[in-house]
Amino acid sequence: MALTVVQQKVRGFICINAHPAGCARTVERQIDSVQAARPDGVAGPKNALIIGSSTGYGLASRIALAWGFGANTLGVFFEKEPAGKRTGTAGFYHTAALHERARRDGLFAAGINGDAFSDEIKREAVETIRKSMGPIDTVIYSLASPRRVNPRSGETLQSALKPIGQQFSGRTINLANGEVTTMSVEPADDDEIRQTIGVMGGEDWRWWIEMLLEEGLLADGARTLAYSYIGPEVTWPIYRDGTIGAAKKDLAATADALHQLLADKVGGGAWVSVNKAVVTQASAAIPVVPLYVSLLFKVMKAKGLHEGCIEQLQRLCFDHLRDGVSPQVDADRLIRLDDLEMRDDVQRETIAPWLDVTTENLSQISDFDGFRRDFNQLFGFEVEGVDYAEPVETEASL
Ligand code: NAD
Repeated sequence: MALTVVQQKVRGFICINAHPAGCARTVERQIDSVQAARPDGVAGPKNALIIGSSTGYGLASRIALAWGFGANTLGVFFEKEPAGKRTGTAGFYHTAALHERARRDGLFAAGINGDAFSDEIKREAVETIRKSMGPIDTVIYSLASPRRVNPRSGETLQSALKPIGQQFSGRTINLANGEVTTMSVEPADDDEIRQTIGVMGGEDWRWWIEMLLEEGLLADGARTLAYSYIGPEVTWPIYRDGTIGAAKKDLAATADALHQLLADKVGGGAWVSVNKAVVTQASAAIPVVPLYVSLLFKVMKAKGLHEGCIEQLQRLCFDHLRDGVSPQVDADRLIRLDDLEMRDDVQRETIAPWLDVTTENLSQISDFDGFRRDFNQLFGFEVEGVDYAEPVETEASL
C-alpha cells in the first residue's frame, strides 16, 4: 500500500511520473468509446498479439480488438513498475487497469513486460500463446523505441530523428517553455540511417512473424499490421524523407515480403496502416510535430473531424479487420486511416497560418492547449473526472 497525492513532474518534453487513477480513467474512456462505436452483430479477430500494447496506437489497438470483437489479447510492452516513492510509468498503469477490467468483463488478457526485440521475450510470448491462447489470428506491431539491441549481432542500435542529404531548418514549439522557435538539424550520416532502420524498420517485425510461423502459432488467414505515418510536406524533410522515413520504407517493404510469406503459409497477409498524427510519447519527441499537430487539431476539431488513437483504431477494426472484409488499400497497398487528416481542405487550412504563428499568438491560432492537454493525459494528468488532490494507490499489479 502506498497511498499518496501524485503531482505531475515534467522534464523537457517528457513527464517523469504518472497518475494511476488518470491512466485507468483513460483506459475506461477508450473502452466506452469502442463499445459505443461497435456495430451490431460485428465479429472479427479472436486471438490477438499486440507488440507495443501499453500506450498510444498499440494500447488503442488492444482495446479496440478486445472490446470491439471480444478478442483474447496478449500484450507485450516495456514499462517500469512502481518502486518505493517512484510511480510506475503510464503504460504500466494502463495495462494494470486494462487487465483488471478484462477480468471483470470475462475477457482473456495477458501481458509480458520486457524487451520485445529480445529472443527471450519472444520465447516467453510463444509459451504464453501455446499454453493459454492457441493460434493467433492478428498480430499488431506498434513499437516505438529510441533504441534496439539486435539479439543476433549483440549491437545496440540508436534511432536518430534527422534529415537525409541536407540540413533541415524549421519551425517548432519548445515544449519545455511553449516558445515557437526555429530549429536546425544536421543531416544524418550513413551509419545513423542504418541504425534508425535497424530500430524502427521491419527486421524485428519479420522475426516475430517468422518465429510464430515456425512454432505453428499463426491461425489460418492470420493477418499482421504495423503502423506508419506520411503527413504534410512541411514535415517531410525531417520525417518522410529523413531517417525515420527510411525506416518506414523498410517497414513497408517488410510488409510486402510478409504478405507473400503469410499468403503462402497460412493464407493470410501483412499490411502497413498509415495513421493520422496524434499526441503520443513517441510523436511529441519529433521536431515540428507539436506545431503541426496543434494547427491540425484546431482545423479538424472545427470541422468535426478530430480523432485520437481510439477513434482511428475503431475505424481500422470495424472497417478493415472485421470478419468478411479485406483491408482496403491505396495504390501502394497502404491502409489510409490518415484520409481525413490529408483531405485537401484540412491540409490547406492547417498549413496556411504556418508562418504567422508566434509564441504570443500560438494559443489563438492553434490548438496548442489541446496538444498540451493530450500530452498531460498521456501520463494520466488533466483527465476529467479525476480528483488530483486525493491520495491514490500507486502500487498496482498486472
Ligand atoms: P508510443 O510511444 O505511444 O508506444 C510505444 C509502445 O512500444 C509502448 O507500448 C512501449 O511500451 C512499447 N515499447 C517500446 N520499446 C519497447 C521494447 N523494447 N519492448 C517492448 N515494448 C516496447 O508510440 P506510438 O506513437 O503509439 O507509435 C506506435 C507506432 O505508430 C509507431 O510505429 C509509430 O511510428 C506509428 N505512428 C504514430 C503516429 C503518431 O502520431 N503518434 C502516427 C502514425 C503512426
